[in-house]
Amino acid sequence: MTSYAEFHRRSIDDRDGFWREQAGLIDWETPFSQVCDYSNPPFAKWFAGGRTNLCHNAVDRHAKTHPDRNALIWVSTEVDKEVVYTFAQLQAEVQRMAAILLAQGVKPGDRVLVYMPMIPEAAFAMLACARIGALHSVVFGGFASVSLASRIDDAQPTVIVSADAGSRGGKVVPYKGLLDEAIRLAQHKPTAVLMVDRGLSPFERVPGRDHDYATLREQHMHAEVPCTWVDSTHPSYTLYTSGTTGKPKGVQRDTGGYAVALAASMKHIYCGNPGETYFSTSDIGWVVGHSYIIYGPLIAGMATIMYEGLPIRPDAGIWWQLVEKYKVTVMFSAPTAARVLKKQDPAYLKKYDLSSLRALFLAGEPLDEPTATWIAGELNKPIIDNYWQTETGWPILAICNGVERAPTKFGSPGKAVYGYDVRLIDETTAEEITEPGKKGVIAVEGPLPPGCLQTVWRDDERYVKTYWSSIHNRVMYSTFDWGVKDEDGYFFILGRTDDVINVAGHRLGTREIEESISSHPNVAEVAVVGVADQLKGQVAMAFAVLKDPSQADTPEAALKLEGAIMKVVDDQLGAVARPARVRFVTGLPKTRSGKLLRRAIQAVCEARDPGDLTTIEDPTALLQIKDLFTPS
Ligand code: ATP
Ligand code: MG
Repeated sequence: MTSYAEFHRRSIDDRDGFWREQAGLIDWETPFSQVCDYSNPPFAKWFAGGRTNLCHNAVDRHAKTHPDRNALIWVSTEVDKEVVYTFAQLQAEVQRMAAILLAQGVKPGDRVLVYMPMIPEAAFAMLACARIGALHSVVFGGFASVSLASRIDDAQPTVIVSADAGSRGGKVVPYKGLLDEAIRLAQHKPTAVLMVDRGLSPFERVPGRDHDYATLREQHMHAEVPCTWVDSTHPSYTLYTSGTTGKPKGVQRDTGGYAVALAASMKHIYCGNPGETYFSTSDIGWVVGHSYIIYGPLIAGMATIMYEGLPIRPDAGIWWQLVEKYKVTVMFSAPTAARVLKKQDPAYLKKYDLSSLRALFLAGEPLDEPTATWIAGELNKPIIDNYWQTETGWPILAICNGVERAPTKFGSPGKAVYGYDVRLIDETTAEEITEPGKKGVIAVEGPLPPGCLQTVWRDDERYVKTYWSSIHNRVMYSTFDWGVKDEDGYFFILGRTDDVINVAGHRLGTREIEESISSHPNVAEVAVVGVADQLKGQVAMAFAVLKDPSQADTPEAALKLEGAIMKVVDDQLGAVARPARVRFVTGLPKTRSGKLLRRAIQAVCEARDPGDLTTIEDPTALLQIKDLFTPS
C-alpha cells in the first residue's frame, strides 16, 4: 500500500498518469486523447477528446448490472412519505422526465432551471438534463422572486421545472407565486414551465406556458431516451456560490472531469461501496447536494437518501432512525446541523442501532471543537471535517482514509487532497510560506484538478480576475480563506481573507476572536465583525447568542457578562483582540446553508446598505442587530 504522502505527490508530479488511472472509474463512450489540456492557463480541459455522460455513469450503468438495487430513497417528514426507487425505476423516471424536456424543445447546451423542494422529481430533472446534454441550474427552493429573477436572467433557461410548494417544519411554503413574479421581473422568458403538483398549495396556470408534470409523465410512460454522449468538457451545470461574502458567482462545471473527481472521491475520501447507502443531509440547492446527494453516491453505485424535513422533527432522532433503517454507511452533514442536534436530548442518538455507520463527514464552515467533541462522543464514530467550496465541487482538504488511514485532528479539515497542489501564500510578499504555524492565504497552483469550476458562467474575465489574479505576480487559484499548516501537513482554517480586522495596525482574524469568545461557558454562538472606528481604524464588535440568556436579563447582568467575556479574550489573545462591545442577541444572520453573514452584520453596524441579502435565512436576526445600532 502506498502512503498518502506518496499518493499525493504522484497526483502532482505525474498528474496525467494519476488521473488516467482515476478516469477508469467511470465509463467513456469515446476514450480521451489528452488527460489535461492546460495550454491556455488558467483554463483547464480535463480528458479532452473523451465523450461520456453523467447520467449514464450515475444511473444507466448500474441499472444494467444491478437493476433492483436501491438508488434513490426519498424520505419526507414534511408530508410523511417515503418512496424507494431502484436503479431500474430511477432510470425509467429519468427517461420520462427527459422525454418531457425534449418535447418542450430542450436541446444540448440549453439550460433548465430547477426551482424545487427536496422531492424525487428534482433529482429526475437534474439527471434528465445530464442525460440529454442540457445544463441544470438549480436554485434553492423558496428563494425570493428578486433573487430567482436574477438567476433566470443569468441562466436564460429554456424550461423551468418547479412545484406548487415546499414545506418546512410542517408549514407550506408556496413557490408558484414567487416563480410567476420572478418570471415577470426577469428580462428572459422561458418557453415552458413544468409544474409538479404536490397538492400542497393551489396555484394558477398560465395557459400555453405552464404544463402539468403528472399529465405529461403519463404520456411518456414508456419513453426510451438514450443518453446523449457529450464531450468531457461539455458543461453539465451552473450553480451559484452561497453569497456569504457578496454577490453569488455562477460556477460552471464540466462533465468528464466532474464524474471522475466524484468517483475518485467516493473511493479515496468517503469510502463508500456499491450497494451501500449514503446519507447527505444537505439540499440540492447547494453544491453538497449536487455532488453528494445526487451524483457522487449514484456514480459509486450507492443508494442515496434524499431527505425533506428538519433534523429535529418529528424528533431529534429522525436522522439516526434513517441510518438504522437503511443501514447507512456514510453520512455527510454540516456543523450547523450538529450544533442544532447538540441542543437536543442526546438520548435520541442512543436510541438507534448505528452499527452500519462508518463515519460522519462535516463540511461547509468551521467545525468548532466543542461541537466536534460532543458529536464524536455521542456517536462513537469518526467525525471527518472536510474543506471545500462551491467552486471546487469536491474537497480541497480532507483525510483520505481510502488511501491510508490517518488520525483526525480537532479543528483541522485534514491535509491537501490528491490533485490539489495547495500552497500557503503570504499576502503581502506573495512568497510561499513553508514554516509550520505561519498564517497565509490558501491557494492552489494551476491547473485545478478535475471537477473544479471551468469558469464563471458566461464570464471568463470574471473567472480570471476573481480567482486567479489576487496573488501578486502569480497565476494561482485563491480560495480567499486563511489557513496554517502544522508539521504533519494538517491545515487549519482561520477564516476568510475579507473577514480580517485591522485594529490599530494589528491584523486579526474574526474567526480567532470568535473561537476565543466561544470558549466562555455561556456562549452558544458568536459573530465578530470589524467596524470602522475613527481612532483605531477598525474595532471588533461581537454579537453572541447565550446558552442561558437569563444571565444577561438586566442591564447590570449583561454588562457583567460582557466584562467576563472580554476577559476571556484578553487572557487568550491579548487585549488588542478584545472586542469594543459584546452584545447579546437571540439569533445570528446566516445564509440558508448556515453560514454567518458577517459582511451584512458589518454593513449594518456601519450604517451601510447590507447589499445582496438574497440568501439570508432569517432577516429578523439582522434587524435585531440593526436595532442595537440605531439610536432610539
Ligand atoms: P460566496 O463565495 O458567495 O461568498 P461561500 O464562500 O460561503 O459564498 P460556499 O462555496 O458555499 O460559498 O462556501 C465555501 C466556503 O465555506 C469556503 O471558502 C470556506 O470559507 C467555508 N468552508 C467550507 N468548508 C469549511 C470547513 N470544513 N472549515 C472551515 N470553513 C469551511
Ligand atoms: Mg466563496
